[in-house]
Formats: sequence, structure tokens, C-alpha cells
Amino acid sequence: MRRRTFLANSAALGGSTLLGTAGATATTATTQASGGTRTTETLLAGTKYATDVITIDAPNDGPTAVVVGGMHGDEPSGYRAASDVASWEFDAGKLVVLPEANRPAIEQETRHNDDGDLNRKFPTGQAAETKLARAIWRLVENADPDVVLDLHSSKGVYRTHESAVGQAVFPTVVDPAPTYAQVAIETANDTVVPWYMPYHRYERGNFLDGSSPLLVHKVAGDLDRPGYIVESTKFVLDPPTAARWTSLVAETLLAKHGIPRRDGRVEITAGGGNR
Ligand SMILES: [Zn+2]
Repeated sequence: MRRRTFLANSAALGGSTLLGTAGATATTATTQASGGTRTTETLLAGTKYATDVITIDAPNDGPTAVVVGGMHGDEPSGYRAASDVASWEFDAGKLVVLPEANRPAIEQETRHNDDGDLNRKFPTGQAAETKLARAIWRLVENADPDVVLDLHSSKGVYRTHESAVGQAVFPTVVDPAPTYAQVAIETANDTVVPWYMPYHRYERGNFLDGSSPLLVHKVAGDLDRPGYIVESTKFVLDPPTAARWTSLVAETLLAKHGIPRRDGRVEITAGGGNR
């Protein structure tokens, strides 16, 4: 799929500052350690949507990832896992992490905020549809990511419960996302999903191609970049466990994309191949 140049151009124009005109932003903390630099800023500071953005610059150069959690306020494993990612150190690369994208919905423990379903506000080829969605998309464009992860929770078991997405990793059509999604689900199934929970094995979900107004669809449609939606279920699984599994999937995907977690659990030595 060819990148849509008008949006690539707008990204280039807006790329001179980290958060551009996404609203008043305040840098609250920058720390430097052997693990690189970690900066916390506030997206849409001073508004009801205000939420932290953590930028982690690892000591070695590498690709850039954007990791989003909390798009839906009733999906705790997604935003817990994103907070995990924001706390990690990495050996290479750069991460821009938005752990709680939809603060008003998280505070109300609801899927929607007053503007509706945030993850239906990102139509391909058009501007994002709400103030918060536009700020998030500007953040993505300005980060110029090599990969985008969007972490969610689901309710049922994939292909068992009607319309449930269960435990699955949905890649964009953009290579190498389909292959890496397969590696991530195999790693999770081999590492954390117990043998006695066969219905909880992760599956590779449908390809995301830009045809729906979801954030990661827009990543495929407008930026032509690899991206993933990660879903872990609430079905007989407590949120801390689901978050831990989601974190492992995120760690695997980031490592495959050249952003390895320091002292992480994932060793990318096998699996995947050219499937
Ligand atoms: Zn969701």
C-alpha cells in the first residue's frame, strides 16, 4: 500500500516539535540514567482529556514505537500493560507511550467518553474526528513511528463467543506485521498461557487495512506502517494476569521490531519464519 503523501507531508510539517499544537503541553519530568532518557509530558494539558505521554530514549539508536493503552476506559489489562511498557528500560530505539489515552472513560470505567467511542474516530484519509483523537493522531504523526501498538481488553473467547475478539493480535497488512503477530501469539502461548486453558490461546486476528476508523487501521491506511491491536480477554482471567500476558505480547512485538526490553523475558531466537 502506498503511503498517502498529503498526510506524510502534514506529518513532516508538524514534526518540528514533539506534540506540535496538540494543546498546551507541560514537561513534568525528565530523568537520565544508564537506561537512556525518560521524559513525561502532558497531552492536552489543562483540559478534561489531560493525560501523560512518556517518551523513552534508549541508549542506542533504533526504531521508534508508539504504544497506546486505555483507548477504552473499561479495558484495564490494556492500560495496565501500557503502563508496564512505560516503566521499562530498553536497549535500543525510542518509545512514545500513551498509557491512558482516554482518561475521562478510564475514570468512569466506561468504554465511551462523552464524544462516543474514541477508537472509531480515526478515519483513513480524513482528519481524526474529535479533539482527543486529533491530539493522539498528531502525537503519532510527530513521532513518525516504525510501529504502533494499541493495547485493549476483550470479553469472550475468539471464534467461540459471538462477536468476541478474545485473545488475539490483529496486525496491519503492512509487512512484517503479519509475521511478527504470529511470533507474538506463539511466544505468549508457549510462555504464559497454561496448557489447561486452551480457549485462552492467542490467535492471529484479521488484517487491519485502513477500512475502519480505528487508530491502527489509520496507521495502515495513512502511514503504511506496521501496527497491531492486542486483545486479552476478561473471560475467567483476572485483569492483572491479562495485563501481564498483554505486556509479554507487547515486549515480543517491540523486540521483533528492534526495540528490545532491557533484561526482558523474550528471547527472539526461534518461531515466526516466513509464514
Ligand atoms: Zn477496546
